[in-house]
Amino acid sequence: MRFHTESLRDTYDAIVVGSGVGGLTTAGLLARAGRSVLVVERHDRVGGYAHAFRRGRYHFDSAVHLIGGCEPVAFKGGGQIHNLLTKLGVRDQVEFNRIDPVYSAVYPGMVVEAPGHLDDFVELYANEFPSEAKGLREFFQECLNIRDETRRADQLEGVLDAIKSPGRYPTLMRYRRATLAQVLDDHIESAELRAVICTLWPYLGLPPSRVSFLYFATMLMSYLADGAYYCRGTFQKFAEALASAVTGAGGEVLLRSSVRRISVDDSRVTGVILENGQRISAPLVVSNADMRQTVEELVGADAFPNRYVSRMRRLKPSVSAYVTYLATDLPLSKQNTSHETFLYASLDHEAAYRTALAGQPNWLSVTVPTIADPALAPAGEHLMIITTLIPFGAHDWRAGSQWMVDGMIDHVARHFPGLRDHISFAEGASPRTMERYTRNRDGALYGWEVSSAQVGPGRSPNVSPIAGLHFAGHWTQPGAGIYGVVSSGIQTARAILAQRANE
Ligand SMILES: Cc1cc2nc3c(=O)[nH]c(=O)nc-3n(C[C@H](O)[C@H](O)[C@H](O)COP(=O)(O)OP(=O)(O)OC[C@H]3O[C@@H](n4cnc5c(N)ncnc54)[C@H](O)[C@@H]3O)c2cc1C
Repeated sequence: MRFHTESLRDTYDAIVVGSGVGGLTTAGLLARAGRSVLVVERHDRVGGYAHAFRRGRYHFDSAVHLIGGCEPVAFKGGGQIHNLLTKLGVRDQVEFNRIDPVYSAVYPGMVVEAPGHLDDFVELYANEFPSEAKGLREFFQECLNIRDETRRADQLEGVLDAIKSPGRYPTLMRYRRATLAQVLDDHIESAELRAVICTLWPYLGLPPSRVSFLYFATMLMSYLADGAYYCRGTFQKFAEALASAVTGAGGEVLLRSSVRRISVDDSRVTGVILENGQRISAPLVVSNADMRQTVEELVGADAFPNRYVSRMRRLKPSVSAYVTYLATDLPLSKQNTSHETFLYASLDHEAAYRTALAGQPNWLSVTVPTIADPALAPAGEHLMIITTLIPFGAHDWRAGSQWMVDGMIDHVARHFPGLRDHISFAEGASPRTMERYTRNRDGALYGWEVSSAQVGPGRSPNVSPIAGLHFAGHWTQPGAGIYGVVSSGIQTARAILAQRANE
């Protein structure tokens, strides 16, 4: 692949700031449509939060564990990642392993599993909770309706189409302000079953009482209905496939190059200035970087209408996380370990979230990617990626955080006896590390919080008031996670190409 640190030309049709999955999606689609595209990335590799790193013979994903929609599905519009890679001509560069069960969870007195096919999931829990069977089926039917309507909207103009034609999207309209807890209240009584259904809430960084039902349902269906997948060789391979779609279509990717400034003249974008002083012109700039960095530092808030800036400052950013990366020679296998296991101290996810906000999370998740891809570690060894949510401001991370690594290992060792004596590598990443590697301020995991008020039209649009300045990634519509940022990247490319076609 052709990666540079200085651009070969002085002028492009479009410059993309940041090589997160959202930015690469837009860049790939624009390059494939014949536009000259430059991607500028400050890190030494592409991917943003989807990047991976190596320690000796261990290959760790920095963040992403699981994505949905990697194979063709009969449902029209399904298999979003498969469709994107196919369209970009790079589908053969990545291999995905299906994850089944999608997750396991340990609650006091209860161990549960989420089968990787929706019908199996519903049947399993309808049998275990017979009095809840009707409500359970109705709940998942609503989730499927949301998936269908979201995909239909995605194929048109996404959120914009849903706003313009509300009658075509009755389920999206009905639940547009609903939280997961509110919808569960209408369908499920059992605290155990509610806890099982909500198990994945940390994936969106908010507990059931706050997380958008629309977004949670879309995420859950992407795993249970479209299939959950791990990318063989880490998600770095997925990001690299997207980057090679850019370079394969004649575009360029600069690494170790920071954008210092996005130049604006008379309310119109004119290009970027790199940290090394190089000025590059383009009539289009797509920012995949933290929205606050883009508005306040790269462009300057003065260039935007006051209302736009104050609205942005009222939005709430998502929480951060602490991750411990570990290698062990414990004899783990598909028979005794899942790809992803959540260890909860109670059925009460609200209480779990409160402990995280207080900086003392009493729960965590353990991902063992070597179950799906043993080649990530030497034979006989496994990787464990232990994650919990925690705010940036909870502790002074500059003072070190070995105590966090130790605490997380102790917690996991209660469920994996002997772990302490079988660790060959351990390293922690704090919210500060997340910020350092992606420049998401305070290590925000998912851009703006994925609350019911901040998805759909409540999230920042992909276009900006400055002509030629667009956004792609988890700070913009429709939302966070790989599914969300791919949708966002597609919407941004589509808007740009439609606009150019009309000019
Ligand atoms: C711990 C953790 C676990 C997660 N697990 C999952 C999961 O299992 N499944 C899932 O779907 N999602 C998961 N997510 C969420 C998902 O990773 C993100 O929502 C998504 O990757 C964000 O992509 P993005 O396109 O918005 O860009 P980002 O990943 O935020 O990347 C932005 C890029 O812009 C670059 N940049 C910033 N400023 C500049 C500048 N001035 N000049 C040049 N470059 C710049 C950064 O270096 C970075 O590469 C997880 C996130 C975290 C943190």
